[in-house]
Amino acid sequence: MGEPASVARLAWDITSGIEAGELADFYRDLHRHPELSFEEHRTAAKLAGRLRAAGYGVTEGVGGTGVVGVLVQGDGPVVWLRGDMDALPVREASGLPYASTVDGVMHACGHDLHVTWLMAAAEALAAARDSWSGTLVVIGQPAEENGGGARAMVADGLRERFPRPDVLFGQHAAPGPVGFYPHTPGLTMSAVDDIDVVVHGVGGHGSRPESTVDPVVTAAHIVTRLQTVVAREVAAKDSAVLTVGQFHAGTQHNIIPAEARLALNLRTQDTGVRARVLAAVERIVRGECDAAGCPVPPEITVLPGHPNTVNDAALDAEIAAVHREVFGPGTVFDFGPVMGSEDISLLPPPGVPYDYWYVTTTPPDVWAAAPGDGLMEKFANVPGNHSPRFAPDPAALVPGVRTLVSAALSRLA
Ligand code: ZN
Ligand code: ZN
Repeated sequence: MGEPASVARLAWDITSGIEAGELADFYRDLHRHPELSFEEHRTAAKLAGRLRAAGYGVTEGVGGTGVVGVLVQGDGPVVWLRGDMDALPVREASGLPYASTVDGVMHACGHDLHVTWLMAAAEALAAARDSWSGTLVVIGQPAEENGGGARAMVADGLRERFPRPDVLFGQHAAPGPVGFYPHTPGLTMSAVDDIDVVVHGVGGHGSRPESTVDPVVTAAHIVTRLQTVVAREVAAKDSAVLTVGQFHAGTQHNIIPAEARLALNLRTQDTGVRARVLAAVERIVRGECDAAGCPVPPEITVLPGHPNTVNDAALDAEIAAVHREVFGPGTVFDFGPVMGSEDISLLPPPGVPYDYWYVTTTPPDVWAAAPGDGLMEKFANVPGNHSPRFAPDPAALVPGVRTLVSAALSRLA
């Protein structure tokens, strides 16, 4: 670990030559051409091309559309830098001149910023390779949004085919006036589970419910009783969110369908709470189906989700100190763990520390015009991640390169 002040000076030196206009062009091009999870072919090719030109050994197609660039510069630590590349099935309503040209697909989570930050940090570090020593591994990850990308890269040999990391760094665009770099030591994002439920009833004529077992009524009872799980079974000091995101049943007014389907989304921050809520969901679904007299037990499928994202506390303190040196006092603060989630923690081999922080991206005029007085009130009133009006300020581009460059240099300089 270098001294924060000298690391910060070096980070400024090697990023001072970044051409902000060229960087913004690269970013706007990605924003115009968003690609859904595992379809990031154009984005991956752009990143790979720039890495190759900067001198990285580049492997494409890792875990589908993933890109890995490796730059070995003598002995020293191995640093992994990761950015995710996928867009969302959202119809853009930002009104930006460089809005999405793909109907129904949008970079609504800022992963186009992430790719731009990663690319430019990789270029800056490569251009200044005489000032550091070690190995840089730059990872363009597919499919963060639908949850499969990190797992796919690991299954495709990310940990075996490339130098083993001593540390992993990542960052996410977040609402908040441009110029802040929130860091949270320890738990920073929550675990997420998706749960599919199929209720099997007995279908029949809408005029003769006595000859059926109505799965709509049964599923409605399930939805209502699930609301008691967080309210009545999770302690007030613990956190959990259980949302029924989908409820599908039936085809016509006069038909009682044979089945109903629910899709649940669970967020927790503690493995004990997670286990308790999952058990409660299973108990309630089975109990309601029994009570209704369903002829066949329900199907309950817990899909592979993301675990908690838990920053190494000592590492986070070091990198937060570096970022404070780079950007000045008052720019780095801790807003505590959030109920959002991430799959970055699945990438490194077990035991390898990682740090994941935020870069705020709301244009200052949008922030100033947002109703509300305090930080949290305004926070709730500006377009955030996954909003069709999410419109990060390109002024956050160069700072988001400096966060990555300075974090890498804290190990390599
Ligand atoms: Zn997202
Ligand atoms: Zn995201």
